[in-house]
Amino acid sequence: MNLNKLIFTENACYKAGQKIKVQGIMVHSTGANNPYLKRYVGPDDGKLGKNQYNNHWNQPMDRQVCVHGFIGKLQDGTIATYQTLPWDHRGWHAGGAANNTHTSFEICEDGLNDESYLKAVWKEAAELCAYLCKLYKLDPMKDGVIIGHYEGHQRGIASNHGDPRHWFSRFGKSMDDFRREVKALMGTAGSGEKPKPAPSEGHPAKLTEGYYRVRKSWADKKSQLGAYKVLANAKKKVDENKGYFVFAENGTKIYPKEENVSSETGQIHIVKSGDSLWKIAKTYLGDGSRYPEIKLLNGLTSNIIYAGQKLRLPVSAYLKVGDKVKITASRYATGETIPGWVKERTHTVSQIEKDKVLLGWPDGIASWVPLDGVKKI
Ligand SMILES: [Zn+2]
Repeated sequence: MNLNKLIFTENACYKAGQKIKVQGIMVHSTGANNPYLKRYVGPDDGKLGKNQYNNHWNQPMDRQVCVHGFIGKLQDGTIATYQTLPWDHRGWHAGGAANNTHTSFEICEDGLNDESYLKAVWKEAAELCAYLCKLYKLDPMKDGVIIGHYEGHQRGIASNHGDPRHWFSRFGKSMDDFRREVKALMGTAGSGEKPKPAPSEGHPAKLTEGYYRVRKSWADKKSQLGAYKVLANAKKKVDENKGYFVFAENGTKIYPKEENVSSETGQIHIVKSGDSLWKIAKTYLGDGSRYPEIKLLNGLTSNIIYAGQKLRLPVSAYLKVGDKVKITASRYATGETIPGWVKERTHTVSQIEKDKVLLGWPDGIASWVPLDGVKKI
């Protein structure tokens, strides 16, 4: 581990001066394509390099955000860890109760395509966790000790972010793998018990009894596309199949919770007399031959449309990466409620998929929001 120290004494979090008893470690990744530490850690100590925008976090900021450390690249490309708060300082990293129990660090993301970079920061992060576990006498394999931000959300102690799973999973790695790596680094320490799957709002991530069923409606048994023990797999199936939902064994609709179709977002076209799919595609997408995208998005099986029909428009009709948006949806793409303070803020689109957008971090929340649930500003 290449551990350095540059405490964020100018950040309001440091000035708040609260202490915690460290009971665990929360692993974050930044959600922004910039692997260089100087983006977040400053001023330049000769190794970091100069942040030309001077937007590092060691200053009063307009957002209440601060973590205990960062892992990323020095100016010369070397991987390093910077401690940025005393480890037992109360950080502002989780957006939930984990701030009172967990120390934290961010791993600086790159474009998420470079496996050698992930391996290097993964190793650095595991070494940091092994060091912290020894320091605070923590068992890395004990349930809830080392958790990713997304696991904190599943436990109800952190905001709804997907880090660092969205990155680790690209290279076939999980937080379970990470915990095992930390344990291995610590030698014989650790009890060896397997971490339990994290619960998710009354619906466990993995069922021991029964199944999560993917259907159009609970009553329509024939529409069932599959039955899953693992909730994430059921959700994935639904994400791939418009018009389907995840149901619990008692018939409760779990996901997605509601349709976020809103005409005020300007992402719906109401069909007028004389419209055709070709004409609509030409108007919004600049090319009539792209009409199959509208068909697909709306689940149309024929080219016939009728006046008054509401058609969702493909994302490329109105959004691109980098656009600033406000959230109009009441729920994230995962179905969870979006808090008011998140809706008040302006977010930057950092990734677009067929029916959802990723709003980035640090300028946003690093969460997926339904496509219909954002409004370009
Ligand atoms: Zn996070």
